[in-house]
Amino acid sequence: MITRWQRNSLACLLLSVSLSTTAAGVHQHGLAEAAVVVEGEQVTIRFRAPLMDILGTEQPPADVPARARYGKRLAQVAAPQPSPAAQCEPVSASISSVDSLFPEQQAHDSHDHHDHDAHSHHEDVDNEWLFSCAFPEKLNAVDLPFLDTFSSLTTEVVLLLPAAQSALRLAPGETRIPLE
Ligand SMILES: [Zn+2]
Repeated sequence: MITRWQRNSLACLLLSVSLSTTAAGVHQHGLAEAAVVVEGEQVTIRFRAPLMDILGTEQPPADVPARARYGKRLAQVAAPQPSPAAQCEPVSASISSVDSLFPEQQAHDSHDHHDHDAHSHHEDVDNEWLFSCAFPEKLNAVDLPFLDTFSSLTTEVVLLLPAAQSALRLAPGETRIPLE
């Protein structure tokens, strides 16, 4: 019996392995990572992508209008859509926001610091959503509608399902993660 904690740890581990370069701050632009973990009625979906592919930049916003622009763009990385037949309800979410990525005081950092980091600094969008599903056995796909918007991304997906673990790859523009 694999506990939820172990499953989530495994998902993190799998993501960490496949994202090993990210830990060093050098991700690959154009490559996103996702994980779908199904355990009992609970479905956890994680999505991680280089900020470059979401915003077109990884630099802190220069001014207030830029902050607002970043915010709108980040909000487009919206909740996944599990199969309607499974009747899943959102339980909680952990979402990358402008404030989490670029805290206000950082925007006022000295220019020296900014220039020094300008070519070595990478940021990721890292979102996680938790759903509770009335009919998890009817869950046969999860759709990530925003992948249609951010069509530069190829997405490597790890699946941890009750029956099996597997991996697949979504080509740019593909939004549907099949679970069977
Ligand atoms: Zn980058």
